[in-house]
Parts: sequence; structure tokens; C-alpha cells
Amino acid sequence: MAKRPRIVVVGSANIDLVTYTDQFPRPGETIFGQKFDLGFGGKGANQAVAAKLCGAEVFMIARVGSDLFGPATIKNFQDLGIDATHVRQVQGVSSGVAPIFVDSTGQNRILVVKGANDALMPADVNAATDVLKSADCIVLQFEIPLETVYYTVQFARRNKIRCLLNPAPAQPIDMNAIADLDYFVPNESEAETITGSPVRTVDDAKRCAQRFLDAGVRGVIVTLGANGALLAAKEAMEHVPAFKVKTLDSTGAGDAFIGSFATFLGEGLPEREAVRKANLYAALSTTSPGTQKSFYDSSRFATEWAERHSS
Ligand code: ADP
Repeated sequence: MAKRPRIVVVGSANIDLVTYTDQFPRPGETIFGQKFDLGFGGKGANQAVAAKLCGAEVFMIARVGSDLFGPATIKNFQDLGIDATHVRQVQGVSSGVAPIFVDSTGQNRILVVKGANDALMPADVNAATDVLKSADCIVLQFEIPLETVYYTVQFARRNKIRCLLNPAPAQPIDMNAIADLDYFVPNESEAETITGSPVRTVDDAKRCAQRFLDAGVRGVIVTLGANGALLAAKEAMEHVPAFKVKTLDSTGAGDAFIGSFATFLGEGLPEREAVRKANLYAALSTTSPGTQKSFYDSSRFATEWAERHSS
């Protein structure tokens, strides 16, 4: 039996408010939409759910609003078996929400209102010191204040805890503040926005990764969609190919990759093997619609993994 890793996510929780419509109201106009769907989302929460479904013990550190979504988000974590002791409501602020409009061609228009996610502060990280110190891996994204992200990276470094940062959504970064980070994990468009150089091929990704390594990060993984992932460190770079699947909806593939990679690494797998397995876990999440809803649990995943490694 693999060791059961402990993953702590310091990140966002949002409510996805998905409206399906082919028409959009003009100013002052009210029209009917076709369908509505409400779901739990936010990159932090999605990555926590992926890690949990892969078999990790997961702790979430987050802030939700003083509206009806706040308690519902906390209950959703609890129902999934994710420790939500450090998910607290902030008075006078809304929860993070993402109104999403989808037309019949599948095109998305997304607005993110950060709400309570913006209230997650370094003091909240200090309040969770015991949990953080027990982590096999701390996982961060960019949907909370950057000062909290930097503070947590430095906390992890001081305490020699493995730390992974997914710079999503992309924004300008102080690379000095994340020097010595164990894993910096952008997708192609995030790598492109942060470096200002196009990332369309594996060679582009290698050049980008080299820039992050030169800036002091220890490890880089650039996720490349249907092309898999590039794993890079000072000593070597390796392209790890994707698995071929019937892709239906790739929303949340990056979150599936990150939550599962942190778990596989925490189980003690070598990096390359953890990337390979995360490639399959993320690929499978693209075969059904939705984000958290499309993530496989560990037994379904084990079957798929075994099928590809039995011959
Ligand atoms: P994001 O969801 O952040 O845009 P990517 O598109 O890079 O991230 O996807 C993350 C990972 O999901 C990839 O590294 C790959 O392992 C897997 N993946 C995504 N799309 C596909 C696909 N069409 N076929 C197979 N694997 C995929």
C-alpha cells in the first residue's frame, strides 16, 4: 500500500453560476436564458477535490462569504471528507463567484468576483501553522492575494515542506519572492503571459522553463494540454507525453493534474512517474463534462491505469 499523503491547499473556493444562453441582454433589457447550473469551483477547491479523490488526506485553508454560498461551500468540503476547519466565513463580503455564460457553440464567457478569497491573509496562514507543518505538500494558486501566496511559499521553504505553485490566473510575479520553490506549474498560456514569449511547442516550453529555473525555481512543469507535460529541473528536462482519450470537455484538466500530481508525489513516486500518472488522471477528467464532477475516484483511476500497464 502506498503511503497516504497529506495535502494542504491554501487557495480559492468559488461558486460557479453557469447560464446557458444564445442571447445576451442589451443595457436595460431583460431576456430569458435557456438553462442554469450551480456548481462548486475555484482552482483551490478543485485541486483539493482531485487530491482527495486520488486518496490523499486533504486540508483546505480558505475564506468564504457571509452569504448562503459560504456554509454550502464548507458543507461540500465536509461531505467530500476534506478538512474544512480552516475554511471560515468573512462577515460583510460575498463568497467568490464565477458567473459563466455558455452559448450553444460551447463558447464560455466567465467573470470571476473574488469576494472572500481576497480576504485570505498571511495571518490566516499563521493560524494554520500546525496543519501546514504536517503537510507532504502545500498547494497554491493565484486566486488569493499574492502577498499570501508569497508568505506561504516562504513558510514552506523555512520549514522544508514541499510546495507547488500553479500561477493561475496568470499575473506578474516577483520571482525573488518564490525563489527555491519546489514546483512551479503553469499551463502554456500562463507560461506565455508570465514570460511574454509564445509557448506553442515543447521547445518553446523548454525555453520558458529555463527562464523560471534561471530565476531560482527548483522545478518546473509546463502542462501542454493534449501534448502532455514538460518536466524541468536544472539537471534535465523531459517531455512526458499525454494519454490518448476521447476528450469532451477539458475544463478543470489543469486542476486535476495538480491535485493528482501532489498526491502521487506524496505517495513517494519518483517525479517522472508522478507526472505520467497525473497526465492520465487529467486526461480522464476531459472525457466527461464539468470540473469537480469529471474527476475520477481512486478505484476508477486504478482500473484505467492498470489497463494501460497490463501488457
Ligand atoms: P489547463 O486545464 O490549466 O488549461 P492543460 O490544458 O495544460 O491545463 O491540461 C492539463 C493536463 O491535462 C495536461 O498536462 C494533460 O496531461 C491533460 N490533458 C489536457 N487536455 C488533454 C487532452 N485533450 N488529451 C489528453 N490529455 C489532456
